Amino acid sequence: MVKKASVYENVTRQFNKAADLMGLDTDIRKILAKTTNEISINFPVEMDDGHIEMFAGYRVQHNSVLGPYKGGLRYHPKVDLDEVRALATWMTWKSAIVDIPYGGAKGGIQIDPFKYSISELEHITRRFTFALRQYIGPEYDIPAPDVNTNSQIMAWILDTYLSTIPPKERHCSIHVVTGKPVESGGSLGRNKATGQGVVFCIEEWAKDNNFDLNGATYTVQGFGNVGSWAARLLKPHGAKLIAVEDITGAIHNTKGLDPDNLTEFVKEHGGVANYPDSKKIDHKTFLSTEADIFIPAALEGVITGETAPLLNVKLVAEGANGPTNIMGDEILQKRGIHLIPDILCNAGGVMVSYFEWLQNKRSEYWELEEVDAKLHKKITMAYKRVRDTAKKFNTDWRTAAYIVALTRLEKVYKERGIFP
Ligand code: GLU
Repeated sequence: MVKKASVYENVTRQFNKAADLMGLDTDIRKILAKTTNEISINFPVEMDDGHIEMFAGYRVQHNSVLGPYKGGLRYHPKVDLDEVRALATWMTWKSAIVDIPYGGAKGGIQIDPFKYSISELEHITRRFTFALRQYIGPEYDIPAPDVNTNSQIMAWILDTYLSTIPPKERHCSIHVVTGKPVESGGSLGRNKATGQGVVFCIEEWAKDNNFDLNGATYTVQGFGNVGSWAARLLKPHGAKLIAVEDITGAIHNTKGLDPDNLTEFVKEHGGVANYPDSKKIDHKTFLSTEADIFIPAALEGVITGETAPLLNVKLVAEGANGPTNIMGDEILQKRGIHLIPDILCNAGGVMVSYFEWLQNKRSEYWELEEVDAKLHKKITMAYKRVRDTAKKFNTDWRTAAYIVALTRLEKVYKERGIFP
């Protein structure tokens, strides 16, 4: 049996394909092919009943030539060094594509968060932050939410970090983390930002292809922050959500599932399974559902050599990081299925993180309209850059997105040179 490529091997292959096509400088290629720092921390936490459990946490810092390391923290049983390395590397490309002054990082804890109480999650988060405190900082490495982490977890990280620094530095350090609750210095519009970015990209794609979103059908995998916001924001366009899958199962209704009601249902029941007015379907049927658009908004490795032939859509808009592997990509291309790649499509999150960071640094609060307008401007500019690069190099959009990022990074390395 052929060994499945790891998540990081997948990144390496994507990178090599783009680097070959654009003729990336061989020395700069060597630098960008490596991560800079890889921090692994095993830490103990006392559980509610008094026993101690050990946890494995990671933070990988890929590159910081464009600015401070930036990227989320995820809580998931599958988190390991290989995955975090891949996710950190994607963050470098993402920030470069949308033209924000950040490098790339990612972290996580190998944990099933649903098995722990709120107070245990708080202790785990605080203890990990304490262990990580010398490796993060408001102008150095700035965590944010990712899979299974949210604004509450960011508030605990903020509070723990601020407790470890001198009192005089506390009020000018709240930008150590983004995705905070608004009352604790978060930005309006950050919560929906990734889903909003996905929808802005879909709008551009629809314009480019003379495609009417009114009445269009779509499916979503993962109904957490990204998937549920993308669905809720597509609703006013008149698009119809016909199938959804998450860890609890998959549901279908040709007449349409209401994204707002479904979001409320998921909040209450922990998943989409047993949503009234829907039919239960299996994973394969979900993937084969005929629709105009598929939004994978869960984890990596969903669209592969085996599953890509099943898809029955015109467009894949990647809300998740790394949902499609190299084999999956090849099949989608051969089948003429359009793809808006993750490092462009889901960049709305880090973009509004950047706006939050700026507001904190300037002690400002921006109106929601201002945040949305800035996000719209930046993401559509990035979309057009990727689209035009794909035309110029006669290549697929993922490779084009890499070329946009690598061109910017190459330029900066050439301007600065290597010390000493
Ligand atoms: N976790 C998100 C991502 O993968 C957001 C990162 C951030 O805001 O720093 O892009």
